[in-house]
Amino acid sequence: MLKVYNTYTLTKETFNPITSGHIKMYVCGPTVYNYIHLGNARSAIAFDTIRRYLTYRGYQVDYVSNFTDLGDKVIQQAQKEGLTEAQLAHKYEVAFDQDTAQLNILSATVRSKATEVMPEIISFVADLLEKGYAYEVEGDVYFRAQKFPNYGILSHQDLNEMEENAAGRLDDQEALRKEDPIDFALWKGEHRPGVQAWPSPWGPGRPGWHIECSVMIDKYLGSAIDIHGGGIDLAFPHHTNEIAQSETHSGEEFVRYWLHNGFVNVNQEKMSKSLGNFTTVHELLAQYSDAQALRFLLTKTHYRRPINYSDTTLDQAQIELDRIRRAYRRLAQRVAVESVKDEVDAAVEEQLKSIKANFIDAMDNDFNTENGLAVVFELVTLMNQYADQDSLPLVTAQHLLDTLKTLMSVFGIDNLGQKESLNQEEQELLDARAQARLVKDFAASDQLRDELLALGVVVRDTAQGQEWEKK
Ligand SMILES: [Zn+2]
Repeated sequence: MLKVYNTYTLTKETFNPITSGHIKMYVCGPTVYNYIHLGNARSAIAFDTIRRYLTYRGYQVDYVSNFTDLGDKVIQQAQKEGLTEAQLAHKYEVAFDQDTAQLNILSATVRSKATEVMPEIISFVADLLEKGYAYEVEGDVYFRAQKFPNYGILSHQDLNEMEENAAGRLDDQEALRKEDPIDFALWKGEHRPGVQAWPSPWGPGRPGWHIECSVMIDKYLGSAIDIHGGGIDLAFPHHTNEIAQSETHSGEEFVRYWLHNGFVNVNQEKMSKSLGNFTTVHELLAQYSDAQALRFLLTKTHYRRPINYSDTTLDQAQIELDRIRRAYRRLAQRVAVESVKDEVDAAVEEQLKSIKANFIDAMDNDFNTENGLAVVFELVTLMNQYADQDSLPLVTAQHLLDTLKTLMSVFGIDNLGQKESLNQEEQELLDARAQARLVKDFAASDQLRDELLALGVVVRDTAQGQEWEKK
């Protein structure tokens, strides 16, 4: 039975979707003003893995997400790059699609841009004004946060404290306009020349940050959804404000289960621009040949726990993934050359059945990928024992291969047949050896072969050139 940890109640709850067998899921996407960083990728991967697991369990999943393609960050970066806001947003939307495709993140059922739902945003804000939960001041529209019962529950913070913090962040102009420091903007007037603005009943302007998600959910999924996801840093104010807006608009419970993923640290430090460790995924993918190893690193930790990214943890993930791939390749090669022996191995079929059940037990417990992966490694051990056997019941061998493929596809890994990759040092030695052979320096070539062997890379010379395999 699937249980999920709900940030709203701070408890693990039995999962019951609104409509049996069908899940409506929304995950906050990035502001498209730069390449995505590891934190964005972690969130996208965490919820892609959850979506894949729900699909594996037989649910139909509608997955909606957004691009925030307007606002201060987009305006500032567009000026810096000498582009219009629309050109800048488009550039980073394309980059997002490319980077997430490399990480094997499935496309959303619908991915909407804030600028595409402007009429719906305006009528949503108008409704909140009409209901008396919002007020207009000189072209801005604000939401009366404290009028909404239970405001701030999702963040589990003290309301007075939130109030003080909000007051500390206000600039003079906002302080004058807001009835209460904790009120938040639904619409912001915009009169600067050359800056994008949309016409509205309150004058030209653009929506506040929170309203687009409420509107897209209402438009593409309906007034109530099963799962809303995002990074834990979004619980307040973003998701807190989404709840207030949406429940005021519809009068219904907005979200059944709030799921939040943890942070990514780089070399045990918080990621930040000032520390200079703000790694974009675009840069990482350019340096790193095996994108799915990066995906694997970001999947294998439970989605609520922090992940430490470093060269060491990435290497470790690569080693583990290579171990899984090697087990797959070894058995697949055996199956390919075996003469027909179509028997079933009843004992191993039993073991396989319990492996599948254990995998579901692990993942049904709030998508515990760490325990799920431990089960995968039991399967890997079984496959390695099998690949060494003299006689191989082919039907069962094929079942082992198919099961590993299916379980790893839940983690977004679909290239098990791929040969493992060399690290930079190994690749350099291999290149140097090719060069030595070209100039017929066989002493150097032999020495390089020994050095590679010491690193666990076995090199053979063939008519096509060097071939290598890891020990
Ligand atoms: Zn959002």
